[in-house]
Amino acid sequence: MALQAAGYDTSSIKVLIRTDFPAIYRGMSLPDGAALGAEAFRSQEVLNHVLEEELLHLQQKAAGLAEEFGPKTAAELEKEVNEQRKFRLPKSDLKKRISLLEAANAGQLDGLLCPQCGKGAVSVWFTRRSDNDYWTWFLCDLCDFEMRAQGDRPLHYSPDRERSAIGKRGKVTT
Ligand SMILES: [Zn+2]
Repeated sequence: MALQAAGYDTSSIKVLIRTDFPAIYRGMSLPDGAALGAEAFRSQEVLNHVLEEELLHLQQKAAGLAEEFGPKTAAELEKEVNEQRKFRLPKSDLKKRISLLEAANAGQLDGLLCPQCGKGAVSVWFTRRSDNDYWTWFLCDLCDFEMRAQGDRPLHYSPDRERSAIGKRGKVTT
């Protein structure tokens, strides 16, 4: 694996699933791994990039250093990322997670069904790394559910949904 050759410890990726996504997305975070769409396999370079992103995200979470985003305060977020997950993701959860990607792709950015608490309280936020590299965040207002997907510019991306804009209410990190 190229990431190992580059010196990465890939042990934090315990689950790696290839599945069907809305075309715009390349990868989606899972509590203990990642799900990758066809776009991630376009070339070895793209695959390396996608896996590296997911790996760094998992390592950040493992270290309690997840990036700050969304409307929640840093303190709340820190509590969330430090929480240890004890249960594997059930199969049915994957479908609910992919439904979130599909909803975001259809322009529904608030009130999405939360895979964890079952309430319609998930909102969509974006962060941008470069012109063709975006993260889409899904955060539940009522529980600690959070999910992140990486890919091209989301169809319904808008600057006021960007983390840097949201960050006016809180702390901004890059
Ligand atoms: Zn929830």
